[in-house]
Amino acid sequence: MREAMLPVYAPPEEIFTRGEGMRLFTEDGKVYLDFIAGIAVNALGHAHPKMVEALKDQAEKLWHTSNMFRVRGGEELSEKYCANTFADQVFFTNSGTEAIECALKTARKYHYVNGEPHRQEIITFTGAFHGRSFAAINAGGNPAYLEGFGEPMAGFKQLPFGDMHALKAAISKDTCAVLVEPVQGEGGVRDIPESCLIELRKLCDETGTLLIYDEVQCGAGRTGKMFAHQWCEGKADPDIMAVAKGVGGGFPMGACLVTEEAGKGMRPGSHGSTYGGNPLAMAVGNVVFDELAGEGFMEEVRRVSGTLKQGLASLKDRHPEIVEEVRGKGLLCGLKLNRAPKPVQQLAREKNLLVGVAGDNVLRLAPPLIATDADIREAVEILDACLTEAKAQES
Ligand SMILES: *Cc1c(COP(=O)(O)O)cnc(C)c1O
Repeated sequence: MREAMLPVYAPPEEIFTRGEGMRLFTEDGKVYLDFIAGIAVNALGHAHPKMVEALKDQAEKLWHTSNMFRVRGGEELSEKYCANTFADQVFFTNSGTEAIECALKTARKYHYVNGEPHRQEIITFTGAFHGRSFAAINAGGNPAYLEGFGEPMAGFKQLPFGDMHALKAAISKDTCAVLVEPVQGEGGVRDIPESCLIELRKLCDETGTLLIYDEVQCGAGRTGKMFAHQWCEGKADPDIMAVAKGVGGGFPMGACLVTEEAGKGMRPGSHGSTYGGNPLAMAVGNVVFDELAGEGFMEEVRRVSGTLKQGLASLKDRHPEIVEEVRGKGLLCGLKLNRAPKPVQQLAREKNLLVGVAGDNVLRLAPPLIATDADIREAVEILDACLTEAKAQES
C-alpha cells in the first residue's frame, strides 16, 4: 500500500493504531515506550482524557466557520498566551511552518510601515530548521532541503551558529530580523546559553532589528518553562514568536505571537488562513495550555528533566567510546554520538523504545512531558543495552 505514498519519508514497518500516555500500540499488540512523541508534539502523551473529551465535545457542536467569524475558543486561548508571555496579540495557524511564515511577513511589514521598506534581510544560523515552505527552507538554509527547488530566495543570510562577532558585523541598515531557535531541534539539539540570548536581545534593541524566536519545538513546556526563552526571566523576550507542535498536543495547530508594536503593520487583509484557529484546534489548544499552566506541572517537568539528564550522563560515562556529549535542555535532549545515530535508533526500536535523531550525529529524545522517573529509567536501560550492542557490532 505504501507505493501510493509520495516517498518523502522512509518509515519502518510498524503501524501504530492506538496510544495511551507514554505508550504506543501496534495492531498486533506490540507495545512501545514513546520517547519522541511525534517529534515533541504529544506534550500530554497519547489520548489524554481531557483532550479527548474536549475534542469530542467540540466535534458534536461546531467544526468550522473560517475566520470570517469570531471563534470564542481562539479569543480565549490568545488571551491566555498573552497573559503568560511577552505577547499582545496572536495569529493562529495549522503548523509550525505557517507560524514562521506569519512571523517573517509580520517582521517585513513592520519595517515597511515604519518607512524603512529596505529592511528585508532575515538573519538565521547554521543548523536552523524552520519548516518546509519556500520561505522556511530559505530561512533554514540546509542545502539538502534547498536542492532542486530553484534559485535561493533573496533576503536571507545565514551565519555560523553561536558566532556573536559575525552577527554584530552582519547587522546592517537592511536587516529586518534575527530568527533563531532558543534550543535548536533538528540541527542537533543545541541550546543557546541564556547570556547569549540576552546579548542578542540587546543587539537587536540597539539596531532596531526585530528578534523572532522559533519555539515550535522547544516551546510548550518542553524545557521546563512554558517557553524556552522564559529561562531568561524577561531579559531576552522576542518581538515575535512562532509556536506549534506541543501547543496542540497532537492536533495540528500553531501560533504566531507578537507585541503590539511588532504587529502594527498587520491589518485586515495583510494575512490569513482558512483553518487557522478553527474551533476543533482551539478546543484542544485550550486544554493543553491549561494543563501545562496547571499547579506544579512545570516543576514536575523540571524535576523529571533532571532524572533524564542524570541518566544520559551515566550513558556517556559508560559508553565513552560512542557518546561524546549530552545535549539539550529539559525534555528536549539527546546524545551526540561519534557516529550516525540511525543504527542506534533502530536497535532501540527493536527493543520497543522509540527515539529520534537530529543533525550532528545526535540521538534525539523528546518524550511526552508526563514522563515519570520509571519511564526514564526504562528508556535509559534500553539505550544502555543499545549502545553496548552498537559497540559489539563494530568489532
Ligand atoms: C517542526 C518545526 C518547524 C515546522 O513545523 P511544521 O509543523 O512541521 O510545519 C519549524 N521550526 C521548528 C524549530 C521545528 O522544529
